[in-house]
Amino acid sequence: MVGDVDERQMADINGYVSQAVHDVSTVTGARFSRELLVLAPRSEAEFARIYGSSNVADIQADTVIVAGKQPYIVFNAGRSIQMVSGPSATSTMPQVNSAQVSRKVLTHEVFHALTLTYAARRHLPLWLTEGFAEWAGQKFSGLHLTPKAKRAALPSNADMSGSNAVDAYQVATSFVRYIVKTCGQRKAIAFYSKAVVHPTGSLAALAERELGHSMPTLVAGWQHAYQSSR
Ligand SMILES: [Zn+2]
Repeated sequence: MVGDVDERQMADINGYVSQAVHDVSTVTGARFSRELLVLAPRSEAEFARIYGSSNVADIQADTVIVAGKQPYIVFNAGRSIQMVSGPSATSTMPQVNSAQVSRKVLTHEVFHALTLTYAARRHLPLWLTEGFAEWAGQKFSGLHLTPKAKRAALPSNADMSGSNAVDAYQVATSFVRYIVKTCGQRKAIAFYSKAVVHPTGSLAALAERELGHSMPTLVAGWQHAYQSSR
């Protein structure tokens, strides 16, 4: 881990990352071939510089995936603390402690770093890659977020990066949670793992084979459950 946050925060982040690597490895069976690099800049400007964009509003972390290289994580260390103490804290997150937010964010990124390849990130729909990562982040941090959307519809890639992206992430996560609940965690992870290995294959055929249900059946079941939980 490399960063300029204070020693205490550095130790905390290191602890969350180690725990996340353990949790995600246990659930997916994936392992790093080398140690995971985590960059933790204190200032938002430095985060934006490493992240490669000045538009970092709402971005707490990212996993950088380059073809043929082991992914690394950039963690917006200053922002994750601000999010829970700043004036806008309640807009996207309930009042929670920063440790829980950091754990959720870092487990989400570790899930990406451990399971995604460059091709998988390029070809697979965002609801799948982000939904599973966020499911893992929420599961292991215990920080469960509920989508605000009135109706459940699988978010498109445009939805996942548009102005309503924060909620689209939670809608995608809700679908993944439904798959896990309906088909079981083992089957859900087998479906995800096979999808990331062959990212250009048919997701519909994979769902039939690994989950035992067609995608339309799963989506309809989820929409029904979503509606009745409101
Ligand atoms: Zn993500």
